[in-house]
Amino acid sequence: MNLRRLEFTLTTKCNSQCLHCQAEASPLRSEVMEVEDACNYLEEVAYVAKLESFMVFGGEPMLYPDKTIAIFQKANDLKIPEIENVDEWRLGQKHGKC
Ligand code: SF4
Repeated sequence: MNLRRLEFTLTTKCNSQCLHCQAEASPLRSEVMEVEDACNYLEEVAYVAKLESFMVFGGEPMLYPDKTIAIFQKANDLKIPEIENVDEWRLGQKHGKC
């Protein structure tokens, strides 16, 4: 499979509620992927594709730091070279207030 990058929307919960949000995230939403499901998806994809990078975003992944770190650990165990997290703070620094 010619897939080199995988991105997860971990959650739709966020401290902000931006009009342009691809996940329609907001403080009122609460959907979050289970770690076991995320790890299984990651493992399945890594089995059929040589992933070069993996990213978790949302929503705000760091509202669930234990889940985010566990998923990153799995990506690290699978030896994916580039592992990224995009969070609200980082977007705000880059693009100004949402
Ligand atoms: S900060 Fe990012 S994740 Fe949160 S609502 Fe805005 S665009 Fe969506």
